[in-house]
Amino acid sequence: MMMNDVHHLIGGEEVKSSSGRSQAIYNPATGHQTGSVALASVDEVDAAVANAATAFEHWKTTSLAARTKLMFAYRQVVVDNASEVASRLTAEHGKVHSDALGEVSRGIENIEFACGLPELLKGEFSSRASSGVDVTTIRQPLGVVAGITPFNFPAMVPLWMIPNAIAAGNTFILKPSEKDPSAPMFLAELLLEAGFPPGVLNVVNGDKVAVDRLLTHPDVEAVSFVGSTPIARYVYETGTSAGKRIQALGGAKNHMIVLPDADLELAADAAVSAAYGSAGERCMAVSVVAAVGDIADPLVDAIEARLAKLKVGPGDQADSEMGPLITAEHRDRVADYVRAGAESGARVVVDGRDQQFDGDGFFLGVSLLDKVDPEMSVYADEVFGPVLSVVRLDSYDEALKLISDNPWGNGAAIFTRDGGAARQFQEEVQAGMVGINVPIPVPVGYHSFGGWKASLFGDTHMYGPEGMRFFTQAKVITSRWPDPASSTVDLGFPTNT
Ligand code: NAD
Repeated sequence: MMMNDVHHLIGGEEVKSSSGRSQAIYNPATGHQTGSVALASVDEVDAAVANAATAFEHWKTTSLAARTKLMFAYRQVVVDNASEVASRLTAEHGKVHSDALGEVSRGIENIEFACGLPELLKGEFSSRASSGVDVTTIRQPLGVVAGITPFNFPAMVPLWMIPNAIAAGNTFILKPSEKDPSAPMFLAELLLEAGFPPGVLNVVNGDKVAVDRLLTHPDVEAVSFVGSTPIARYVYETGTSAGKRIQALGGAKNHMIVLPDADLELAADAAVSAAYGSAGERCMAVSVVAAVGDIADPLVDAIEARLAKLKVGPGDQADSEMGPLITAEHRDRVADYVRAGAESGARVVVDGRDQQFDGDGFFLGVSLLDKVDPEMSVYADEVFGPVLSVVRLDSYDEALKLISDNPWGNGAAIFTRDGGAARQFQEEVQAGMVGINVPIPVPVGYHSFGGWKASLFGDTHMYGPEGMRFFTQAKVITSRWPDPASSTVDLGFPTNT
């Protein structure tokens, strides 16, 4: 089998790494190595930054009209190649093809938003702030900016960052996850195919060495990060200490409250798709169902019935509904949470460890744990796998408190037929993204994405209007010119006509 060796993309060219360091890439469905990814040295990161800095000098003055045409062209090539991006993504991440296609289309939304760049970068103008005085705010690019992305959305998360950043006139360095770098590399090649100048987008593959250099390099102005909470905190602290603008999105533990009056079938369908889709490796996955009152028994039964039919298998097989986990180590770690939950008294309704799979793929069946207590590790930690915990509570207030007491605050959902309860929830819940009868409330591309508490370090959410704000800096110009109405200056022509 041909091995896929992934290097860097700098200045529009593939640049072979000479760092002497690399990491294996696996197909999680087979468990076999399919290639390797270079791990950049400090010098290689510096070369990418220098290239991006040179490209910035021209790109920042490229007209809005030209940039807009390029963004539309990029949208079209990504649409045309969506299936190929999805296939590369499935081959290294493992998620099923339909899910991978969904990921690509959510990424395309962000390109479409950035196609509106002339409107988004219009700025603000106040005429006659004082006599003869006008005030204008313009938004300018920052310079070289970087994005560091996680394994679980190797196409979508880079597209949360890149379109707004380059539409605004910045040049960009992407450091994708080393676990599945081929889809983001392909997206960068498509940008060149769309006609973008070399150096506007560079890809440096690597690990902590590359991240640390980007966070401290004097010519990198801003870093957008998505990943786990400990690394997000580290990135925020290191980058801001170096004087950079940082937005760092972290991990999550998302709750779905089901009130006694909820539509049971709707809630059960939602819990299954939101907990087990993409094998639970989503930062917006529902990890906890907070079942209030007497809906708990029928809800657990309804979820169990659905799980019996859920087909786990390779992502490139048409009938698979859930693929493998990203690595063997992660699969074993997730399975251990099921063991620990069972040992500490949770009722294991469905045990994913019982399901047998042929071959060496990193598969784990789905698990459903009932009567989970917040003290248990399966509740307290981010599991990031196909495990759903049900916590039983007596009231809405108790369910709300469960969410408030949790350190994360990415997404939260409520299922109910009561509009008053839903409205109260949206006001009171401590989370950045809220679903009302919607289990995974990922905002559309023209709003912005971000959690609260340990799910976000920094103050700016990702993509949409806040993303455009993150990648631009405001400049306010106050100007005075003789005011025709009050000026005594003779302009040499009539001014009151
Ligand atoms: P991760 O934190 O391990 O890695 C993310 C990035 O950080 C990768 O590019 C990686 O190379 C780099 N990195 C890893 N360790 C590092 C270190 N010690 N120093 C510097 N850089 C380092 O995350 P992951 O396992 O790839 O992704 C899963 C996590 O991402 C989950 O916690 C998930 O909730 C989170 N996530 C959050 C969001 C969100 O929007 N909040 C979205 C997707 C994923």
